[in-house]
Amino acid sequence: MVVPALIERKRDGGALAAGEWRELILAYSRDSVPDYQMSALLMAVLWRGLAPAELNALAEAMLDSGDRLRWDGIDRPLVDKHSTGGVGDKTSLLLAPMLAACGVAVPMMSGRGLGHTGGTLDKLESIPGFRTGLSLRETEAQVRRIGCAMIGQTPEIAPADKRLYALRDVTATVESIPLISASIMSKKLAEGLNGLVLDVKTGSGAFLPGETQALELARTMIGLGEAHGCRTVALLTAMDRPLGRAAGNALEVEESIAGLSGEGPADLMEVTYALGAEMLLTAGLAGDPRDARKQLEQSIASGRAREKFGQLIEAQGGNPAILDDPAVLPQADVIEIFTAPRDGVVTRVEPRRIGRAIIELGGGRQKVDDIVDPAVGFVITARPGDAVRVGEPIASIHARTEDAAARAAAALAQAIEIGDAAAPLPLVSHRVTAGGVERL
Ligand code: URA
Repeated sequence: MVVPALIERKRDGGALAAGEWRELILAYSRDSVPDYQMSALLMAVLWRGLAPAELNALAEAMLDSGDRLRWDGIDRPLVDKHSTGGVGDKTSLLLAPMLAACGVAVPMMSGRGLGHTGGTLDKLESIPGFRTGLSLRETEAQVRRIGCAMIGQTPEIAPADKRLYALRDVTATVESIPLISASIMSKKLAEGLNGLVLDVKTGSGAFLPGETQALELARTMIGLGEAHGCRTVALLTAMDRPLGRAAGNALEVEESIAGLSGEGPADLMEVTYALGAEMLLTAGLAGDPRDARKQLEQSIASGRAREKFGQLIEAQGGNPAILDDPAVLPQADVIEIFTAPRDGVVTRVEPRRIGRAIIELGGGRQKVDDIVDPAVGFVITARPGDAVRVGEPIASIHARTEDAAARAAAALAQAIEIGDAAAPLPLVSHRVTAGGVERL
């Protein structure tokens, strides 16, 4: 293998053969290809794209660079979901226990906050004692025992992706649909799933804000999933405002518990039910969307989903007392109320600004090794379209110090716009399958 010749071919719009991709990824994993050559190739891929056979070969090579979860003899369908990232998106915390309560096995592998978006692992780790670093064998045993586990990417899963992702992060090559798809799907396929539901965000707070790009990402990931025997469905959901009211790690755990107790905000529950219904249908455990929704509602009304969340927390070393007493979660020292600056209609609640303000409060990372403050964030009760009066409380700010709270208030004033009329995106706009795109 002559690496400069492969880079040259890709640079000039040609394709690498499946065997070349495999050999290259293997060699890179063994340190026989230097970062500078891989960076050049990644940049060529960003500009030239990948043919379907190349994409498959790349994803497979990344998948085969590590171990997989093994499920011999398991008697339940295995399904997970993946979100492309948002602000206030805590649907994973609701869906893992809800689906487990409905008879699905959910080996959920999640990430940390990335850019302005929050991460499921950071949220879970705000629960005192909660351990997300389970080994693959521990994960298998827990899923077999209680039906779900929520873990981070272990060093055994797609190690080539871990190295490639770190390289892309510092070489401006993250924003490539084939590279994003291969990266996400190599990890998801390592879970040994029967089905996968993708939550592809659109709108100003999404990594790929436009509908066209979101649809292309969905189709590309679906192609990879289906080619590997994993039924894959995507929903496009709105990220032009935060999902639910809470944004910030412990605050989102508290809102998730409210959701599992039947008291979640309507927008959060609508997206959760939509994704959950697809998960149940993909699992083959519901006859139609109406049946799926009913089963999910029942999992909450009966208390089974909440109980399952307690089992999950306990199994992973966390304190399940948070279910009955949210004060066990880390609490901010300063809580300030933010009021509407004028009469009018809320036209925008800008997720990027909110996400960045959480990072500024200490609730996310500016550098990879920053320690996240779990207690800080916002609870924003005003939604786009709501009529508000001057002086009316529309949010609370949870901060460590008065100064931090004042800076967060200034950021909120920029993020929440009040005007005359709002035109938010529909919460769930498209359903994408291998068969095509359905506008909802
Ligand atoms: N998340 C991933 O896991 N990989 C990407 O490339 C982008 C987001």
